Amino acid sequence: MDAADYIIVGGGSAGCVLANRLSEDPARTVLLIEAGGPSEGLMFRMPTGSYTLLGKPAVDWMHVTEPDPSLNGRRGSWNAGRALGGGSAINGMMYIRGDKHDYDDWAANGCVGWSWDEVLPYFLKSEDYQGKPSPAHAKGGPLGVSPLRIKHPLADAFVEACVQTGLRRLPEYCAGDVDGAFINIVTQRHGARSSTASAFLKPAARRPNLAIVTGAMADQVLFEGERACGVRVLVDGQPRTYGANAEVILAAGTLMSPSILQRSGIGAGSHLREMGIGVRRDAPEVGRNLQEHASYSSSRFADIPTYNTMLGPVDLARNVALYLLLQRGVMSTAPVHAMAFVRSDPALEHPDVKFSFAPFCGDTKGMSKRPGFTVFTNVATPKSRGEIRLRSADAMEKPVIDHRLLGHPDDMAAMIRGLRTLDRIFEAPALASHITGRNVPPEPPRDDAEWETLIRDGSGIGYHPVGACRMGADDGSVVDPKLAVRGVRGLRVVDASIMPTMPSANTNAPAIMIGEKGADLIRAAARGA
Ligand SMILES: Cc1cc2nc3c(=O)[nH]c(=O)nc-3n(C[C@H](O)[C@H](O)[C@H](O)COP(=O)(O)OP(=O)(O)OC[C@H]3O[C@@H](n4cnc5c(N)ncnc54)[C@H](O)[C@@H]3O)c2cc1C
Repeated sequence: MDAADYIIVGGGSAGCVLANRLSEDPARTVLLIEAGGPSEGLMFRMPTGSYTLLGKPAVDWMHVTEPDPSLNGRRGSWNAGRALGGGSAINGMMYIRGDKHDYDDWAANGCVGWSWDEVLPYFLKSEDYQGKPSPAHAKGGPLGVSPLRIKHPLADAFVEACVQTGLRRLPEYCAGDVDGAFINIVTQRHGARSSTASAFLKPAARRPNLAIVTGAMADQVLFEGERACGVRVLVDGQPRTYGANAEVILAAGTLMSPSILQRSGIGAGSHLREMGIGVRRDAPEVGRNLQEHASYSSSRFADIPTYNTMLGPVDLARNVALYLLLQRGVMSTAPVHAMAFVRSDPALEHPDVKFSFAPFCGDTKGMSKRPGFTVFTNVATPKSRGEIRLRSADAMEKPVIDHRLLGHPDDMAAMIRGLRTLDRIFEAPALASHITGRNVPPEPPRDDAEWETLIRDGSGIGYHPVGACRMGADDGSVVDPKLAVRGVRGLRVVDASIMPTMPSANTNAPAIMIGEKGADLIRAAARGA
């Protein structure tokens, strides 16, 4: 297929949803272009297999940031899926939508159609929930969503400890209220990872109106006048062009969709000129508004076996065999088993800090040999902002990621308050009774200054970049609420980069929701609606 009605650039969480939904109409042709390869085989299917994929350049972009002054000048390593399924092919599988107020805030700020009540049907449309029937979940969609097959007992102790410190216990956290502590669910079906490649793309791949090209790096969008009419890609370094009869849709993720716009002449005029790129539209916000969850890992040693001690060579072999036979056991688990959202300041209207509990621990040298657990702490909706720029006009060069992960003083203050709250949770009887010692930090910080040093020295990413192609109602926004790129025709961005602000959530389910809603917006436009 050298031309199609719709060209989708990027076969990730949102892109595979688009490919499925847009090709449901047999009268429309769809071409999906992906830089990575397929995501098949045991390591993609088996939930714990992703540990072997992270850090492999064939399937992980392994972006490196500029030195970040807010992390005491350290560079960060930003993993991102480079294969069909994108992030959903290698991620932690934690399924969470966020809080009602996150989306209501988007709508209140001009993103018409994106309130909680308006996005909930799209979360439900995707879902094939394998747990007990609940009005907050749906069955019959492509995406397998399941309770954890194997839950570590310390996850219950963590939730109980949260309750002992005054938090609510949430039996259901997918109905728009995440204010409390809960055992999380995961994007899995029958013990296998449910990536968007396996859930959405595989069932659609045989449709004669859908073509999938892998190993093709999109360089830039091509235009006829103001209308996007195709895409130039590089395959093994050789240029190739594909024509789009109706629309080009960028779904290359938060770190790459802005770069494709910039190489296409849509970005800050001064930056494009510096890169030797002709300015099609001076759009200074392209690449800006980058948000990510800074993550600090606190860990304690425990009195019962955790994954630190349950996966020696013999146990590993036994567990892989168990997985191959029954898709059960430790290999079917996800890293995070429980979460909590807390108000680090009781005066706050909504929780501002998120905790994720994992039944293993380590330090800078690697996994510990003693059993233990970790709680990852993030500011739920950070105020710190960064930006994505081009390094050069060459599509094969990775973009500049220039972030101040903890650049906003309110984020640092919330992290410190959040970590003090976490210490109280560790001291609550349900968890304290299992703790045999401190791991990270080894000594309790004495004051805020010591906390700040620890956090700046020790924080990394939460794997949730959003926002660099901001949706909004104002002229400065990159896309409008129908996800159309401002100032040109026939071009949309449909991925996590359009989120104006981070929802109180991990970002896979929201990206899939954006894919579902984006497909509906595109189909409505084709009908002239
Ligand atoms: C290690 C890790 C763990 C995570 N854990 C969780 C979790 O447990 N729960 C959760 O909710 N979220 C998690 N996330 C985040 C979540 O997976 C992402 O937010 C989500 O996948 C983003 O979807 P997207 O469609 O915006 O982009 P992506 O899924 O990243 O898709 C972009 C796709 O575009 C392709 N691409 C990029 N540039 C080009 C180009 N120039 N030409 C062609 N193709 C291109 C990429 O290869 C990729 O396939 C995690 C992410 C990572 C990396």
